[in-house]
Amino acid sequence: MNEQLENLNRLPLRDDLRGLTPYGAPQLDVPILLNVNENTHGLPEHVRRAIMAEIESVVGGLNRYPDREFTRLRQSLATYLGHGLTADNIWAGNGSNEVLQQILQAFGGPGRTVMSFPPTYSMYPLLASGTGTTYVTGTRAADFSLSADSAAEQIRAQAPNLVFLCTPNNPTGTGMELDVIEAAYEAGEASNAVVVVDEAYAEFSHADNPSALQLLPGRERLIVSRTMSKAFALAGARIGYFAAAPQVSDALRLVRLPYHLSAITQATAVAALTHADSLLSNVEDIKSQRDRIVAELTGLGLKPAPSDSNFVLFGGLENPRAVWEGLLEAGVLVRDVGIDGHLRVTAGTEAETTAFLDRLRELLTA
Ligand code: PMP
Repeated sequence: MNEQLENLNRLPLRDDLRGLTPYGAPQLDVPILLNVNENTHGLPEHVRRAIMAEIESVVGGLNRYPDREFTRLRQSLATYLGHGLTADNIWAGNGSNEVLQQILQAFGGPGRTVMSFPPTYSMYPLLASGTGTTYVTGTRAADFSLSADSAAEQIRAQAPNLVFLCTPNNPTGTGMELDVIEAAYEAGEASNAVVVVDEAYAEFSHADNPSALQLLPGRERLIVSRTMSKAFALAGARIGYFAAAPQVSDALRLVRLPYHLSAITQATAVAALTHADSLLSNVEDIKSQRDRIVAELTGLGLKPAPSDSNFVLFGGLENPRAVWEGLLEAGVLVRDVGIDGHLRVTAGTEAETTAFLDRLRELLTA
């Protein structure tokens, strides 16, 4: 046993946390980071200036606690989302990870279960264990899709307290038809399940893939979670949010820490949302790099999964570890998500994507 683990094991850690491994995407100092699905395009200069100005306007008041209800931010997010939503429908936290954790604190916990469909977002089991919620899994088809019938049948069989549906799904990139979400919601009725649709990558979807936001009216157990980390290029600012019936936010008020969203976070998010249009134009560029990756990988004889997000999972690799290392030697960091014969790459800028594709071609033809 290594020394770090021995030191940890001496502590009176909760029994259910013993032996667990923390979230650990490598943070390496390399020139081309295509491993954690960040927005590779950075913030345009005028958006940076707008954020600085908004932050400057709150700095003088930092001796006071921030608006606990983050009212302006909730209004801005409701306006951005549309679909007839108002501030009462919106909740926000320090990244959608925190929002998902708060959902589990309120609706999960000891004696309760959360169900998801791997391969899916690697934080779900960790958020479950951190909140003492039991994580149960369903299955997908071989092409990583999930049909309405299959989802409904599996949910009925397991009767979970919560269901996490990730669409577009990380790490596969796969989008989910709305009928799957409708079926999952209906199947969850027997166990009164809260159904969370994690749309962290929604803005990168192809135009014909609508958001679950339109399913919200009349469904009080449905929550649609989003983030500003991806399309809005604000991963470092930590802002995630959801849309749901107002009483869902009331449930979260019972578990959130007071003043959990700093005045600086709120200012940053509000300023960025006033420039949603220019930030979303970068999204179009990222989508075209994503589509280029899918086309070129197919040309190389690999098997990229169709993607509605800003990353591509690709199979057909005989030795993914060697390819991962070969890319790293060339300064390109991608992600080994633990699926046999597969790697995942985030769509970069045009130059970054070219560097990735050139190096990959070299490695495969060597
Ligand atoms: N959901 C999914 C599917 C994700 O991939 C991520 C980030 N990788 C998150 C949620 C969390 O993002 P954040 O906490 O930055 O909002």
